Amino acid sequence: MNSPVYQTVIVGGGFTGLFTALHLAHEHYPRSVILIDKNKRFCFKPLLYEYFDGEMDSSKVVPHFSELLKSSGVIFVQDTVRSIDLHQSEVELASGYSYKYSNLVLALGSVTSYPHVEGAKENAFPFWTEADATTLYRHLRDCLQTAIQTEDVEKRSKLLTVVVVGGGASGVEMVATLADFLPHWYGVLGGNAAEIRVILLNHGQKILDGDINDRLRPIAETELQKRTVEISIILKAEATVVQPDAVEYKSHNKVKILPTYTTIWTAGTSTHPLIQDLPIPSEHRDHHSRPLVTPTMQLLDFPEVFAGGDCAALQNTSLPPIAQVAYQQGANIARNLKALALGKDPQPAKVDIRGTMLKLGLNDAAANLFNIFEVAGEPAHLIRQGTYLTLLPTPIHNFKATTEWLDEEIFHHHTNPRDMGQEVIHAVELLAAGVVSVLVARKLLKMLGDEGKKGNR
Ligand SMILES: Cc1cc2nc3c(=O)[nH]c(=O)nc-3n(C[C@H](O)[C@H](O)[C@H](O)COP(=O)(O)OP(=O)(O)OC[C@H]3O[C@@H](n4cnc5c(N)ncnc54)[C@H](O)[C@@H]3O)c2cc1C
Repeated sequence: MNSPVYQTVIVGGGFTGLFTALHLAHEHYPRSVILIDKNKRFCFKPLLYEYFDGEMDSSKVVPHFSELLKSSGVIFVQDTVRSIDLHQSEVELASGYSYKYSNLVLALGSVTSYPHVEGAKENAFPFWTEADATTLYRHLRDCLQTAIQTEDVEKRSKLLTVVVVGGGASGVEMVATLADFLPHWYGVLGGNAAEIRVILLNHGQKILDGDINDRLRPIAETELQKRTVEISIILKAEATVVQPDAVEYKSHNKVKILPTYTTIWTAGTSTHPLIQDLPIPSEHRDHHSRPLVTPTMQLLDFPEVFAGGDCAALQNTSLPPIAQVAYQQGANIARNLKALALGKDPQPAKVDIRGTMLKLGLNDAAANLFNIFEVAGEPAHLIRQGTYLTLLPTPIHNFKATTEWLDEEIFHHHTNPRDMGQEVIHAVELLAAGVVSVLVARKLLKMLGDEGKKGNR
């Protein structure tokens, strides 16, 4: 007879999976923990724009799992999960290895989807992973480089036009980023920045409609107009075909075509295929086919399996698929795994959404704090950066990133001797705002931690 395995396997090292692992290590979980991710680096997705546009480097936005988990006791396996057998309690990997588990954490996130739009999967650029950000950056650099050498006006226009499909948070953040950075990059090559066109195609009547950032729409609409080049927002426009050199859309029953070599797709996500394949009946799934979990984050039919973040749905409660939900659920899953290992009862998870933030281009953002008030412009940018830098996993990583960012913000952006007087004042203001935002964020996190403890008593 086989002896029982006492090991916890976490599949997916995003916000849910990594934070589960880090909390287990912190709580001195008595069983061995294996974290499996197909990538060797964690991706801090809310900062993917900063990685894409070069504002932040890879060590901050996409740090190595090996660095983050150093001395934690968590075993990291870089491999792709091929199948999950809930009946045999076994996970199979692309390398051919497989792992038995006594507890499993499903933390695979979601995937980009292209519902019924011809050519979208083949020709549009997704923006979901580190690899997507790198591919898009290289493509745009190639377009700019080719444009500078192109006499053909029509071709140059296609090279310098970018269409973003989807007016949710990702699409809005993307157009704002492009409208500030593309003209700058093209200008450095000697091109005429005024030739850059950035277009947002949105199916609905309003941007951010039905999004958790809905409240920030008025600020977003205002700040989008302040970018380096104008952003054209086309509403009630349904993308129907994506070709390598054009995107076709329907508006007021007419078919229109936008010639472009760059269509960026931010218009949808779907449930991870491995999660769809699980032997879970449809009545135990939500309308996106995500498995329902109990308030303690366990699958209804397999209580030894926990699931959180974008790949699970809480029974009787609707939470948005965002990072702050995912990492809080990770912490709760860790607490409940430890409770089970010690023979105690798991406790309902508690998730607080304290507000939302949007990046709206270079040094610009919108922040909704506690659903009480909104902040726009540079102060919101500082709050956003401070908050995310405080959240970067592990204290050492966080400290390094924060100090480097403050140093860059204060000393490197403000060294023009001609404006020294004004710049010094501005730098001091920025330093104060930056420090305040980091302190506020720390306070918020402490409150979150304290309330989490209260909730689990
Ligand atoms: C561009 C962008 C900007 C965003 N901005 C914000 C924001 O400002 N605020 C906010 O709150 N949220 C934001 N989000 C959403 C947020 O990032 C997600 O909700 C969050 O990452 C979900 O966490 P997760 O753990 O469920 O999944 P993820 O963080 O996506 O992690 C899933 C992990 O599973 C791994 N994986 C997938 N398949 C396999 C496999 N077969 N084998 C092994 N490993 C696998 C992946 O490599 C990944 O590491 C943003 C998302 C994107 C894409």
